[in-house]
Amino acid sequence: MENNKPIYVTQPSLPGLSEFIPYLEQIWENKILTNNGPFHQQLEKELSAFLGVPYISLFANGTLALLTALQVLRITGEVITTPYSFVATTHSLWWNNIKPVFVDIEPEFGNLDPAKIEAAITPKTTAIMPVHVYGNPCKIERIQEIADIYGLKVIYDAAHTFGVNYNGQSICNYGDLSVLSFHATKVFNTMEGGAIVCHDAATKKRIDYLKNFGFAGETKVMAPGINSKMNEMQAALGLLQLKHYRGNTEKRKIISDTYKKELAGIKGISMLPEPQNTETNHAYFPIFVDEKEYGMSRDQLYEKLKQNNIFGRRYFYPLISDFSMYKSLDSATPSNLPVATKMAEEVICLPMYPNLSDNDVSKIVKFLTNN
Ligand SMILES: *Cc1c(COP(=O)(O)O)cnc(C)c1O
Repeated sequence: MENNKPIYVTQPSLPGLSEFIPYLEQIWENKILTNNGPFHQQLEKELSAFLGVPYISLFANGTLALLTALQVLRITGEVITTPYSFVATTHSLWWNNIKPVFVDIEPEFGNLDPAKIEAAITPKTTAIMPVHVYGNPCKIERIQEIADIYGLKVIYDAAHTFGVNYNGQSICNYGDLSVLSFHATKVFNTMEGGAIVCHDAATKKRIDYLKNFGFAGETKVMAPGINSKMNEMQAALGLLQLKHYRGNTEKRKIISDTYKKELAGIKGISMLPEPQNTETNHAYFPIFVDEKEYGMSRDQLYEKLKQNNIFGRRYFYPLISDFSMYKSLDSATPSNLPVATKMAEEVICLPMYPNLSDNDVSKIVKFLTNN
């Protein structure tokens, strides 16, 4: 029985409950539950130092942070983005009445392909919203060059990139704004949570107004803001999670190394390459199934794993551009998105979390090997 318990794609990391109790006692003691309370302030300070980013603003979740990021920079019209992501990326544009324009991804890492961006720019384009998929950095230098030439903003959906460094600094320091998610399934979680990283104090101030109804003083409202504040329980949990982050990442790395070694020889299964100049967070472990070579389609393998209580996830399938609300856009046609279409048809993310046992990893590898 014990060795056939379900293995899910992830299992949220939590600190020991006893570690959390003193934080709760403090909240009950001081009766500050939200609105930039002491734990919120402390978490902003600690995250900014830990990640190596100049300014960070905490949010109730990543989606509200994305919505707000677009408001902060007054983005309108059309925004160039990727179909190979979680739906929240494009939904955030829709909720801001912005038209998403889908551009294909590059086959190496599955990130927005800079070579295809320029052809999609129109007079209405105001920004580019790429995603560092699986935590692997986009081609940030080329994307910035294009943005500079055409006068566009760059907002990175950095939901997968907590703790990722590129060229010796946080990947979140690139672009105009970067948006993180601290959802239960992410490498650093506050149950639900998120953040915007920005470069200067004035922008942080504007972000902080907008996440609190636009209040800029007791009686002054400077914009139609929203309520997207992180509460004190979330912030307290974040402070504790941060202490365990490095240990958890080391465990992920060991699992990732084992997968890479054990799966390397299997015909028809491919993995992503190692990104250059990057300190990764091992957030996900995607594999790509070539039906002809492997002798089984991705969906057949996915079902077979499921029948054996191994629950991978097809991140990202279907493509965002295939959902009914976006399907009719010109840029959503599969012929515009051949690379994304192929990746979405071949991908399975294997279980990956710090407490995944050696036994479970061996079991997963065995099923992939003996098809
Ligand atoms: C998780 C995720 C989000 C949404 O974050 P929430 O905190 O769940 O709202 C946005 N974009 C991507 C790419 C994600 O993976």
